[in-house]
Amino acid sequence: MLPCFSERFGNPSSVYALAREAQVTMERARGRVAAAIGASTDEIFFTSGGTEADNWAIKGVAAANKKKGDHIVTSAIEHHAVLHPCKSLEKQGYRVTYLPVDEFGRVDPASVEEAITDATILVSVMTANNEIGTIQPIRAIAEIAHDHGIPFHTDAVQAIGAIPIDVDALGIDLLSLSAHKFGGPKGTGALYVRQGTRVGTFIDGGAQERGRRAGTENVPGIVGLGKAIELATAEMPAKAPRLAAMRDRLIRGILDAIPDTRLNGHPTERLANNVNVAFRYVEGESILLSLDTLGVAASTGSACTSASLEPSHVLTACGLPHEHAHGSLRLTLGSRNTDDDVDYVLSVLPRVIERLRKMSPLNPER
Ligand SMILES: *Cc1c(COP(=O)(O)O)cnc(C)c1O
Repeated sequence: MLPCFSERFGNPSSVYALAREAQVTMERARGRVAAAIGASTDEIFFTSGGTEADNWAIKGVAAANKKKGDHIVTSAIEHHAVLHPCKSLEKQGYRVTYLPVDEFGRVDPASVEEAITDATILVSVMTANNEIGTIQPIRAIAEIAHDHGIPFHTDAVQAIGAIPIDVDALGIDLLSLSAHKFGGPKGTGALYVRQGTRVGTFIDGGAQERGRRAGTENVPGIVGLGKAIELATAEMPAKAPRLAAMRDRLIRGILDAIPDTRLNGHPTERLANNVNVAFRYVEGESILLSLDTLGVAASTGSACTSASLEPSHVLTACGLPHEHAHGSLRLTLGSRNTDDDVDYVLSVLPRVIERLRKMSPLNPER
């Protein structure tokens, strides 16, 4: 990325040599994104991140199919980048079905079939959940959508670089991705749009991104996105099993050492980097603060909602009672984590929970 900030600062839309160089670099990045998901380069559109890609997919398909219908099918556990655009469409008169999930956070494909009506214009279900790591049966869901001639969108922000994604094999028509979730820079993402899928323009202006997403491209970000997706995809076969082993040791160790604790999310259909556990009688926020002083960076719900005191909509949708949902802790592993980190968490966490439970007014045994 660094040369794009200095000597290679050309604007890809201009015609002189410096600009053509930027254009070539940007198209190389587009090729890398396309290769990572089995798409062709003209199906990749760069955006400012996962949120923009989700907004574009949902609102763009809704706008382009207004005459055809006004109904969207999605799930109750989507990221807010999908849920809030759906809410905003509801205010404009569209109808949205938010599919329920089972206790592990899985959408039943049969519920998609039941929800579809003659007015349905889009099915959008995330590939993997950001809070609990549950992986959805998206191939089966896409097939049902296609049986009814409906396009299928998936928010694959958590899945890229974590599990293999091939848009043809999985039947994906639109896919959102975000660079900073697989080691790239923040503020850069992409939307994949299958050739022939009807989706409106998202940002009006110049002719960038074939006139469908105007505005001078974030060339350094795009270059970083391209390199990061190439590396993440190449490293996945070795990295995923290594993270999964650490994940499973963390889960086992926590459940074995701490009573009144349960695993959130699916035991096996789960991202290799995701640990999410619920401790009864404690507040998630207090666990975070205690762990932070011990040098452990953890989270309760998604980073985007940890400022609010509402229990996570994902855990609530999984049927977790409020007092459990409030005591949830999410630990995510990255490529730089080691077995020593796992040992460290397992050595400090039981004492943190024990201390907090002793002080908790919710605890009947106190
Ligand atoms: C992070 C995330 C987003 C939002 O992506 P940004 O690039 O931060 O806008 C959307 N969906 C999921 C599942 C995410 O994890």
